[in-house]
Amino acid sequence: MSLPSHTKAVVQTGARALELRELPLPDRVGPEEALLRVDACGICGSDFEQYQGLMPFLPFPLIPGHEPVGTIAAIGEAAAQRWGVAEGDRVCVETLLPCGYCRQCRDGQYRLCSGRRGLSGYGYLGLDTPPGLWGAYAEYMHLDAHTVLHKISKAIAPEIATLFNPIGAGIRWAVQVPGTKVGDTIVILGPGQRGLGSVIAAREAGASCIIVTGLSADERKLALARELGAHHTIDVEREDLVARVREITDGRLADVVVDVTAVSNEPVVQAIDVARRGGTVVLAGMKGQRPVENLYNDRIVAKELTIRGVFGVDFHAYEPAVRLIESGKYPIEKLHTHTLPLEQAERALQILAREVPGEEAIHIALVPSARA
Ligand SMILES: [Zn+2]
Ligand SMILES: [Zn+2]
Repeated sequence: MSLPSHTKAVVQTGARALELRELPLPDRVGPEEALLRVDACGICGSDFEQYQGLMPFLPFPLIPGHEPVGTIAAIGEAAAQRWGVAEGDRVCVETLLPCGYCRQCRDGQYRLCSGRRGLSGYGYLGLDTPPGLWGAYAEYMHLDAHTVLHKISKAIAPEIATLFNPIGAGIRWAVQVPGTKVGDTIVILGPGQRGLGSVIAAREAGASCIIVTGLSADERKLALARELGAHHTIDVEREDLVARVREITDGRLADVVVDVTAVSNEPVVQAIDVARRGGTVVLAGMKGQRPVENLYNDRIVAKELTIRGVFGVDFHAYEPAVRLIESGKYPIEKLHTHTLPLEQAERALQILAREVPGEEAIHIALVPSARA
């Protein structure tokens, strides 16, 4: 592959400040590194938080974009051997750049790596950390020696391949962490991309009753949840969630409850209420650093609930997510609603956050080759 000398990249300089720049590519790729041609970058809720400036610890200016899918444009010998990929291969790249040596890394918990300072991952390192090309809102990006990636078939469109993120989240949060098994009842609070990923994962795990909740404005997402395998959906603005779950389950309530809603704290209380005695509640939604009101300790104690926080996804869940996408077993492409070029990164973020009237998104990807 012949390489250009520069790359187009969206640079974030502060809160709600993005600009398109031409940045130089490094003239050589080290033995343990690679250069990725970005084919698509998925956008999730945390991208919008980053755009709003709600991650004040980030070293601006930087290139955002932490959900890359791309083609290996150049690769060092050691990296090619370690990662098992060659020039021209298409890969899904994990966000985090773990150190590999700290206690958590050694323990197989590299999501919690403490060996590198700050948030060490794609989309979060500054232009002042050489070579500066750490984000996927760009035509090309640098792949560091600590990269974790997954080869994926070129038969999958790149913007669909970026769904390895929400599907991976569903596999880890709705199945692996709570131990969801054949015959289980699971309640998934929130029908966004990660809620829908949870539906696919729960169905794949053999859950026999999958219930998904949403707001009235989520009608389209709830319909898709049913199409993907949810047995029941509940509009929490029109129906009493706890009463409905009790009715559907004949009073047994849910073996597993997963909260993937953002901002609102109410679902945390509801999760505890719809979990059965001895059930498991997985908390995956970030709530803007606020405490949960009306949280009754005694209900958790009396029901002997297992409550688990989950932060991010790892190899263990991403690998089956990539294979599930390749299998074509589920109409995963229906999650993807918008493809936009780099020039419209800001618009993409605003659409995701429902700031653009008339646009309703589930999953959005930036595709550098898309037409502006
Ligand atoms: Zn993300
Ligand atoms: Zn580490």
